[in-house]
Amino acid sequence: MRNNAATTPRPTRRIAPISRAARRNTPPLREVYGRLYATYGPQWWWLADSSFEVCLGAILTQGAAWSNVEKGLENLRRAGLFSPGALRAAPRDTLAALLYPCGYFNAKARKVKAFVEHLGERWSDDLDAFLHQPADVLRSELLGIYGIGPETADDIALHAAGQPSFVVDAYTRRLLARLGLADERWPYDRTRALFMERLPHDPTLFNEYHALIVRHGKERCLKRAPRCEGCCLQPLCPAGQASIGKRGAP
Ligand code: SF4
Repeated sequence: MRNNAATTPRPTRRIAPISRAARRNTPPLREVYGRLYATYGPQWWWLADSSFEVCLGAILTQGAAWSNVEKGLENLRRAGLFSPGALRAAPRDTLAALLYPCGYFNAKARKVKAFVEHLGERWSDDLDAFLHQPADVLRSELLGIYGIGPETADDIALHAAGQPSFVVDAYTRRLLARLGLADERWPYDRTRALFMERLPHDPTLFNEYHALIVRHGKERCLKRAPRCEGCCLQPLCPAGQASIGKRGAP
């Protein structure tokens, strides 16, 4: 199962901004992937029991550590609510109480309800048929469901449906910005387009790449105090080089 526990690094040092000259020399995404894979190896994400569980996890993980999402999923399972029909029939307050560990439990109960109601009304609970539409059709339909934004839609499309839809999260934005490949303030779809346009549309590659970025973001490319010394991406990373150069200067 996905390991999405939040990291809360101590704010000890801000990384240096990237110069315009450094931005011109940006590394290719494939080389970044190769270095991450060589360092961390395969990540084995989303080893869930079912596609339905992956869909629920994608909705519940918004703003929550994965360990807390797992508690919410387990609560639903124990309450016998681990199916679209059971979730539709359950009162929203009951659902919210069971999802308490996930945070924003009232909002998440509403989002889960909206998802299973859509599944029932449009697909008669045939999740496989829903998920195996063409990737762009599925993504657009997901985005039309209350509470599903682009990151959640891509999470579901990639991890539950096995469709080639790259997931962009805060770790991705931060890493791309430091590598000089993107600006953290770019709209979601502009950042996602970097991967969609430059990499082969291979769900296994997209899954592994995203998982590696998250691993790297938690272990090394931390928000406030990245550990650039010895980082596998440091030779490619303008921000890391600037940071190390600054500290090395007399
Ligand atoms: S060198 Fe590595 S840890 Fe440092 S900013 Fe670049 S990618 Fe992040």
